[in-house]
Amino acid sequence: MRLHWHRRDLRLADNRGLADAPERPVGVFVFDEAVLEHAGASRVAFLLDAVGALRAAYRERGSELLVRAGDPASVVPNLAADLGAEFVSWNRDYSGLASERDERVDDALENVDATPQKFHDAVCHEPGSITTNAGDPYSVFTYFGRKWRDREKDDPRRIPETAPAADLGVAPGAIPTLSDLGFDAPAAEVPAAGTDVARTLLESFLDDDVYRYEESRDYPAEECTSRLSVHLKFGTIGIREVDKRVRDALESASGERRESVAEFRSQLAWREFYTHVLYFNPDVVTTNYTSYENPIEWENDDDLLAAWKRGETGYPIVDAGMRQLRAEGFMHNRVRMIVASFLTKDLLIDWRHGYEHFRDLLVDHDTANDNGGWQWAASTGTDSQPYFRIFNPMTQGERYDPDAAYIREYVPELEGVDPDVVHSWHELTPTERANAAPEYPEPVVEHSERREQALSMFERARGES
Ligand code: FAD
Repeated sequence: MRLHWHRRDLRLADNRGLADAPERPVGVFVFDEAVLEHAGASRVAFLLDAVGALRAAYRERGSELLVRAGDPASVVPNLAADLGAEFVSWNRDYSGLASERDERVDDALENVDATPQKFHDAVCHEPGSITTNAGDPYSVFTYFGRKWRDREKDDPRRIPETAPAADLGVAPGAIPTLSDLGFDAPAAEVPAAGTDVARTLLESFLDDDVYRYEESRDYPAEECTSRLSVHLKFGTIGIREVDKRVRDALESASGERRESVAEFRSQLAWREFYTHVLYFNPDVVTTNYTSYENPIEWENDDDLLAAWKRGETGYPIVDAGMRQLRAEGFMHNRVRMIVASFLTKDLLIDWRHGYEHFRDLLVDHDTANDNGGWQWAASTGTDSQPYFRIFNPMTQGERYDPDAAYIREYVPELEGVDPDVVHSWHELTPTERANAAPEYPEPVVEHSERREQALSMFERARGES
């Protein structure tokens, strides 16, 4: 028999580790303290829900998802020994920390005579399979994206027959509660987990929103993106299943509708690009991908960081984004770009502080994508925004939230304030601001001054002044 160790693949369908080996699997999920240490309450709440849905799916098939807690390097081999499992399978996780843990499990399995079986599952094309003609990993998305798009994709995997629960002879183990794991109830509203939920989201997105994705995806008030990120992060839906459905939509569409579906599909390629970048450069989690001649002299002012985290910078689109993050554990992509640019290039705060805050609060936090997004915004990443391209937070707000609908949804102090006033908040006099929205903060910095300071900071780092 085979024990399948679920990690970021909390589903039965389209799961390579479950489907591609001949032996019938029984599943286990291990609550690992080293992983939970870096997780926020809302992400753990989603995880618990996803584990519950997976257990229900196993039980529907007369099988079982075992649940354990502790260091996988002892829990998994011990369980394999108790079950008399000949094989232990898992799907690869491409981050550095996970790879180290997996190596320890691999070594420990030798002591119990269980053979490890490892599968590539989380991405359509595993790291190392899309390279430059010289065989190197790509550091620029465009060429990677083209190859990814044109490369033949595998079909989704069937649901395998699982091992019967009756024969196991071990306790299933209870799914812990949030407080068992040391977390308070999350401040954010956490989305529901499970494959059924993910499929419903995908189908409803493909019914309609995907065809206006290209023109509307940058407008947060439009809410036309798929919201699949958390499901792709935890693997409650398989990437081959998503991509197959998207390819079907692409084949049956034409003209602008087809371009819109293609634009969505290229986001799936970005996800894989950043997975490959992290795999080949595990240090990017803490260090700049692109190094400058001198260290970047971030100011790292604690009060400004705290105002940014609270969503009280006096820059409406930034504050709306930061408050959406706190309320929902989610932020729209365009707004993630704006708040990340604001933190690094207006507040002159090191991207690592922003990354840590996102890691604490985002339900969809994914090391590769979060790091890729932050380093892009900070002009330290693979395919970054050039250092001299600095978002103006007011014009970004005006352009992407012209009616201030998104801003007013999350910043109640600005409710009823005319959009023109909202978008020129920094140009008003303190008296005008106090009259328009007495509760809303004054801008914490002056964008045009900070822009100049940011340029000098980067020029010094480049050794130009
Ligand atoms: P859709 O627009 O529907 O996109 C579909 C899927 O494509 C997403 O679910 C995601 O898996 C992938 N995707 C979309 N945009 C990107 C991108 N720019 N980079 C990589 N993959 C992408 N995404 C995460 O999944 N986790 C993160 O922790 C994360 N942190 C980010 C931090 C910053 C500073 C920035 C600028 C972006 C970050 N992103 C992250 C990328 C992006 O913002 C989210 O994937 C997207 O907003 C999720 O919403 P959606 O599922 O509706 O996206």
